[in-house]
This record gives sequence, C-alpha cells and structure tokens, in this order.
Amino acid sequence: MNTHDALLAIYTFYDDFTADFPVACRSGCNTCCTTNVMATSLEMDYMVKWARPFTDPGISDRILSCLKGSVYRPSSTINQSASRCLAGREPVYEHSMHGLGACPLLNRDGLCSVYPYRPFACRAMSSESSCQEAGSALMQSFLVTVNLAIYQIIEHVDKEGEYGNMLDFLIARMKTSGNEETSRYILRNQELPGFIIPPDELPRFKSFMRRFIRVPVGDLKLGDYLPQSPRIIS
Ligand code: SF4
Repeated sequence: MNTHDALLAIYTFYDDFTADFPVACRSGCNTCCTTNVMATSLEMDYMVKWARPFTDPGISDRILSCLKGSVYRPSSTINQSASRCLAGREPVYEHSMHGLGACPLLNRDGLCSVYPYRPFACRAMSSESSCQEAGSALMQSFLVTVNLAIYQIIEHVDKEGEYGNMLDFLIARMKTSGNEETSRYILRNQELPGFIIPPDELPRFKSFMRRFIRVPVGDLKLGDYLPQSPRIIS
C-alpha cells in the first residue's frame, strides 16, 4: 500500500468535497498559521519530500526560535481521544498551552511556502466569515464532523507512525543540534476505533463515507486503507 498516494487522494477528495462550502479565507490571510499545527509523521514526510522546506536558508533559525517560546503539544492523538470517548472514559487532560507565534513556514509575503503539501490541519481550518473581524472562525457543524473523521482516517493510514506538533517533526528532520529535546513530545499513532457522529448528521455522514471509500488509489480504493466496516456511533 502506498500511503503517500492515499494521503494525496484524501487531500484531493477533501478539496473537492469542501469546494461547495462558503469560505471567506483568501490568499494572504494567515491568522490560523500559528505554531500550534498538529500533523502525523506521514504528512510531514510527504511535505518534506515534495516541498523541501529546508532549502530555505533561514528556516532552521525560525523553527528553533519558535520552539524557544511556548507551543502546543497534545497529550493524546485524535484516535486515542476517540477511543477513550467510545469506551465512556474521560479525555486525557491537556496541560499544554497554545503558543502565540506565527508558523515559521510563512514566507516574507505572508504566504505559506509549502502550500500544496501542507498538512490536513491547515486544510481543515477555514471560516465562513472573516475571523480577523469576528475574532474567531465560523464553520458549519457537518464540516467540523467531517474534519474530525479525516483526522482520524489519516492517523489510521499512518497507524505505524507518529503524531505531534509540526515544528517538533520539522526539527527532528533537520540535521542540526537543538532537536534532542523534541522527540519526547511525539506520540504514537493509533488505529481508527470508530467515528462518533451527531445523530442528525448520521445519514449525511454515511453518504460522505460511501463516496470516500470508493476514491481510487492506484489499483486500490481509499476504503482498502480503512478497517472493514468501521464503527459509527451516534
Ligand atoms: S504550514 Fe502553511 S498553511 Fe500551515 S500553518 Fe504553516 S504557513 Fe500556514
């Protein structure tokens, strides 16, 4: 199975799916480009391979500088949280605070330097109205549901891999000192335990998944990358 091809198929399907949703985000709007972006190792390998962020001579210093401040580090992966929820357990306590810095992958013009290869967390951030004016993003409930499901699916596709803050992954891939500390913040991915879907969104979500699993990936389909008949709890 080619997980990079599967990831690209997921990104492409998601872009097509969200094309009909109203979005106020425009080129140069980078409010959500912070130091708190989470990703899987699969997404980071894909980005580093194709976007080659380390060819920018200033990138190392910018990442190291961000990591000197506070950045968010999750206490559990998305599937670990879903698994606890499905078992009726409390979520893991999140003790990490969100940092205030800008993403070091923004270029001097305020644009994403790795845009075609950015992780899903960046793709999933959108707003129906200007979040600079409103102070927060506005998103339809069903899009939030789909986003969570895609996070879970990407983690499952990368189930042998890892999850954490994008900056910790980047620094671990840089051939420089200063990256010894960050590996302790990286979590092991977990298989998909099932989806938790609001009852009123269940028919629409099932329809979404029927389309999703049929997306071709070489000789396979995206459904081949998922567990057989994943649980859907409402
Ligand atoms: S990777 Fe690109 S889209 Fe994502 S936060 Fe950084 S600059 Fe923004």
